[in-house]
Parts: sequence; C-alpha cells; structure tokens
Amino acid sequence: MFEKILIANRGEIALRVIRAAREMGIQTVAVHSTADTDAMHVRMADESVCIGPPPSTDSYLSIPAIIAACEITGAQAIHPGYGFLSENANFVQIVEDHDLTFIGPTAEHIRIMGDKITAKDTMKKLGVPCVPGSDGGVATLEDAKRVGAEVGYPVIIKATAGGGGKGMKVAETAADMERAFQTARAEGKSNFGNDEVYIEKYLGTPRHIEIQVFGDGKGNAVHLGERDCSLQRRHQKVFEEAPGPTITPEERAAIGKTCADAVARINYIGAGTIEFLYENGEFYFIEMNTRLQVEHPVTEAIFGVDLVREQIRVAEGLPMSFTQDDLRINGHAIEVRINAEKLPEFAPRPGKITQFHAPGGLGVRIDSALYDGYTIPPFYDSLIGKLIVHGPDRAAALARLNRALGELIVDGVETTVPLFHALLQDPDIQSGDYNIHWLEKWLETNLRE
Ligand code: ADP
Repeated sequence: MFEKILIANRGEIALRVIRAAREMGIQTVAVHSTADTDAMHVRMADESVCIGPPPSTDSYLSIPAIIAACEITGAQAIHPGYGFLSENANFVQIVEDHDLTFIGPTAEHIRIMGDKITAKDTMKKLGVPCVPGSDGGVATLEDAKRVGAEVGYPVIIKATAGGGGKGMKVAETAADMERAFQTARAEGKSNFGNDEVYIEKYLGTPRHIEIQVFGDGKGNAVHLGERDCSLQRRHQKVFEEAPGPTITPEERAAIGKTCADAVARINYIGAGTIEFLYENGEFYFIEMNTRLQVEHPVTEAIFGVDLVREQIRVAEGLPMSFTQDDLRINGHAIEVRINAEKLPEFAPRPGKITQFHAPGGLGVRIDSALYDGYTIPPFYDSLIGKLIVHGPDRAAALARLNRALGELIVDGVETTVPLFHALLQDPDIQSGDYNIHWLEKWLETNLRE
C-alpha cells in the first residue's frame, strides 16, 4: 500500500486526488509554483513543495523538480491529474526509472494513443469502429487529393500529434485541399513539432460520445457507459452529461463491450476514455485519452464509484473493486465547466475573488479550488470550478442544475455562469437535441461578440 503520494497538478483536480487519497488513509504531497503559494491544494495537502516560478514549463512541467519533490518527501507514487504531464510517456519512463509508481497507464500505451495515426491503427486492429479515411499518414498534396476523392468531400485533415482542437482543418471541396493540407501540417509542426497529418471523412452533424473504460493491467477491463460532450466551443467541451440523451441501452452495451474488450486485450491499466463521433446510429473512433478526464464526475455520479480511488488501487496492484455486472446506471448527471472568462468573447479574466458561495443540497457536487479572497493567477487554465448535478432522470438533473446555478456566488471576476443560465432556457438543451456544431451556432445568434 502507498503511504504517501504526490500530486503533480494544481487547482480542482489536485483537490480531487487529495480527497480520494485522504479517504484511503494515504498522505499527500502538493507541488506548487511561486504563483500558487496561497492555492487551496497547497493548504489541503499534508505537505507541499515549491517546484519553481509561475510559468508551467518551469514548475508543473519540470520533471526534475517533481522527481526531486518525491525524493525529499518520500512520496512513493505520482498522480498526474489531467493536462500538464498526464499524457507524457517520457515522464512516465523517468518516474519508473526512479523506482516510483506512476498512477496511470504505461509509457507504451500513452505513446501509442498519443499519436493519433498509431492510435487509430491500433483501435482498428482491436475491432473498434473508426472514421473512414486515409490508411495512416498522408505525405504529399497529390496523395491528399487522391484520398479526398476516394473518401468523398468534405474531409478533415488532422495532425497526428494534435490536441486541444489544434492542427485540424476541414476541406469542403478538392479546391480547398491545398490550403487545408498545408495549414494542418504547419499547425502540427509549430504546436507539436510534428507535421505528419492524416485524413478523415468530415461528419456533418455528429454527437461527441465518449466511453469511460477502466483496466487492471492484467487483462481485465470494464466500461462505465458514455458521456455526451457535444456542447463544444472551438472543440473544447463546456457542458457534459451521462448517460447520453440519445444512446439506447443496447447501443451502450455493444459499444461499451467493444471498448472494454479492446483495452483488456492490451492489458491497459487505469482510467481511459475512448472518444467517438456518433451519427445515424454509428460510432466512429476519433481518439483515446489515457488519463482521468475533466468530466469524469458525471460518470462517478451515475455509477456511484470513485474513479480516483480505483486508479490508486490498480496502481498498487490491487484488483478493481467492481466487475461489469456490478455497474448499474442510476439516474442522470450533468457537469458545467465554470471558467473565469468574460462573455461573449470568452476572454480570460483572472483576478481576486471577493465572495464565493458554493451551492449545496441533494445531488449537487462542486469541484473547485476557489475560496473567499483567493486571487486567480493569470498563468494557467481559466477553469475555476465544475458544478455537477445528479438526479433521478434528465429533467430532474436540469431542474437541479438551474437551482444550483442560482445559489452559486462568484464575485470579483467574470465567469461563464451566465452562459449556462441562458442555455438552460433553450428548448434544444431541454430536449437534448444538439450536436457538435450546435453551441457555436447558438453563440453566434445569442451571444454576439
Ligand atoms: P483533439 O485531440 O484536438 O481534441 P479530436 O480528434 O478529439 O481532437 O477532435 C475534437 C473535436 O473535433 C471532436 O469532438 C469534433 O467536434 C471535431 N472532429 C474531429 N474529427 C472530426 C470528423 N472526422 N468529423 C467532424 N468533426 C470532427
């Protein structure tokens, strides 16, 4: 059993991991930059170590500083949270070379899934349905045009190393291919140091449906249903729900089994998310995230499990505490991401929180590192909290979200809360009738910049 773990992250996700560890009787070590000396994760952990100056490249991404913090404090394992070093295979290798445990998948699995071409190829071989497109990378414009003609326009050109919505360009027609191909390559090169691209059919009105999987690293794996994360702005999720409003129990069982079998076959360990686009009853794999997702609490709500606790258990070599048969969906959950941003342009607005009041009551969870008087530093992500509601069905969850948003007070900075108040009034949101383009269109008419 671990006696002490280090959390290589900040903000709400660092608190999330500290909470799970404390319930398991495990001591925690927080790391922080000089900008985060007064942050809640530092206050809440048993110990803390300052690992560098404000820029994350010199602190939260500094591998030597994080390894040194483990050595100083005697932490035996590292939980990476999401973002930062969570999907860095090189980091995992270094952690293991220092006889420490990485609470997450192996370096090899992170590497495979971190390259979208290799990931797609691997998933195809494991029987997971993929978006039609090029067989691997496309090196020249001539090849790109040939694939475009074969697959049929519109197509999307994607950087194999891409992420966070960067390195993706749509070509509507053959005439558009040269621009899209060159831009995707250039973005791949400048953002990720890799200009390799591949081509996929561009789906018109899909939903983003992702399957939560969990493996013990010994050939056993389960799925925990889906999350619908179709409400996106610039390919970034803002509102997530589980179960998906349009997914039937039969569809869930079938795609869930395909995903669980696939990760079981590769001896995957820990939490993972297999992302699909879903259109006309078909699932198309787009990528796998080898970490805990921001939106994991909606899955925890409907299945009544603690995914971080499970991550720690399997990292210790223990079995998962549930089997597929134990996992039953109870009700409906919705999460909204609260960012310190000014609408309508979603411009980051760091600053001092003059008043903070968290909503409460039955079925309400708030994961946030805010407190009265806290100053949000300008160096990091603008996510300041997640509000998660759970109810017996979707209508009850929506009503609860409305009620909880009404109780929430965040004064001193502008936030994305007004967006959710407005969205809840919309008939499409009330009925669950939306796809990945819905929010962008809604923002154009309802929140003009
Ligand atoms: P990233 O790694 O940058 O998040 P993804 O491959 O996960 O990129 O895609 C992010 C989003 O881009 C998807 O949720 C979807 O909205 C859109 N997208 C990706 N591939 C396609 C496609 N083939 N057709 C239509 N939209 C797509």
